[in-house]
Amino acid sequence: MKCSDFLKELTDYLDNDLDASTRAELEEHLQWCHNCYVLCNTTKSTIEIYRDYKLYEFPDDLRSRIRAAVITKCQHQTGVPKGAVPQVQKEPPK
Ligand SMILES: [Zn+2]
Repeated sequence: MKCSDFLKELTDYLDNDLDASTRAELEEHLQWCHNCYVLCNTTKSTIEIYRDYKLYEFPDDLRSRIRAAVITKCQHQTGVPKGAVPQVQKEPPK
């Protein structure tokens, strides 16, 4: 197997979407081809990071607080005066 063949099958390999014999050929290639080995590992960890990211989505509460913080920062940077942003009213003391 050549590197170009390896690259062609790499995504299927990482998706576990190959028949046993093609899979064995790819693994055999990885035994001696350092470039493809590194590439395979890099791609694999990139996919894993992406999957983790999908698993740990921000909760809505945190997301809206981040959005509010970003908006405040943007308004500050574009020079919108503080009074233009509606302030949260504190409850009057009882
Ligand atoms: Zn190779």
